[in-house]
Amino acid sequence: MQPMNLECSQDARHRSDAEALSTVCPHDGAPLLVRYAVARLERAALAARPWTMWRYREMLPVGEGDEPVTLGEGATPLLPLGHVAKALGLDAVYVKDEAQNPTGSFKARGMSVAVTVAKRLGATALVAPSAGNAGGALAAYGARAALPVRVYVPRDTPALLVDEMEGYGAEVILIGGLIDDAGRIAAEYARGSGAFNVATFREPYRVEGKKTMGYELVEQLGDVPGTIIYPTGGGTGLVAMWKAFEELERIGWIGAARPAMISVQAEGCAPIVRAFQRGEQSAQRVDDGSTKMWGLRVPGGIGDRLSLRAIRESRGRAVTVTDDEAAEAMRDMHRHEGIDATEEGGATLAALRAFVKEGVPLPTPIVLFNTATSLKYWPR
Ligand SMILES: [Zn+2]
Repeated sequence: MQPMNLECSQDARHRSDAEALSTVCPHDGAPLLVRYAVARLERAALAARPWTMWRYREMLPVGEGDEPVTLGEGATPLLPLGHVAKALGLDAVYVKDEAQNPTGSFKARGMSVAVTVAKRLGATALVAPSAGNAGGALAAYGARAALPVRVYVPRDTPALLVDEMEGYGAEVILIGGLIDDAGRIAAEYARGSGAFNVATFREPYRVEGKKTMGYELVEQLGDVPGTIIYPTGGGTGLVAMWKAFEELERIGWIGAARPAMISVQAEGCAPIVRAFQRGEQSAQRVDDGSTKMWGLRVPGGIGDRLSLRAIRESRGRAVTVTDDEAAEAMRDMHRHEGIDATEEGGATLAALRAFVKEGVPLPTPIVLFNTATSLKYWPR
């Protein structure tokens, strides 16, 4: 096992035991982040390894002899945009297509690591709130690990997503309200039942899985991109990639340059964007949050400070797009590029289009993220 610590994201003096099932910082409730005492991973060592995210295992929370709970997640393609980029007068625009993960979404990365660690540290059952894709991924990895899974989802979650979770054997509880309401109920259930809660930023390991998106970008491009445009719900991916770049500099893969991290939210539910615009360190809950983009219908959460910090440190931005702009961009990614984007993926292209229209130059190459397959949301 690579020596590691769990460090509070709010106050680095707060440490937690990496050999116990940890949740958040016991002093202040802030998310915990994994810190590796000996950071070392030779690029040359990767050549012979299979293309899954576990090729970076020295920088993941597993020991040499540990078998990860894996379904072959990660190693998703970085697809150049053709016609759609040309129409904007741009080249060097790519889509990191996370739809090509197990269970069709980027959530697979985080759940693979979270379930691996939870199982090793003795969890006997798992629970999480979900807007859809996290629940599907947790259900699949729970099945793989032979651990029972319960998922709390908003009642209006599309039926196929619920069917998927149940298909992998999870118990699905439909609730009134939004994802953070589901989060409160899941936390209560965890306290009462002893099930381990793998909700976003409520345990330190989903971030570790998600950060492999940053490792892959550097391997695929040879260096960091100029700009990353990322649809932001809970914020794990944004925060995780920012952590990845810090680690990659430590292990000598990259220098001090960083991409501008651009967070995209829905016009109708944009807590991070509003806080960014007001110059605030944390976000206020959006009480009447409404958007057709399920993954972005996140009115608030404990990842807000870390997300805002990453955006600001990267000299990035936080912007909104409307549901219609995102849907139109999604259709263009389907029709003109053959890419299986969701509206959340479309939202990143819609944001790029707005920057071009306003004459805002972005450092290249530009990477858009498509976070999931559109198929689970059909029929439309
Ligand atoms: Zn703390």
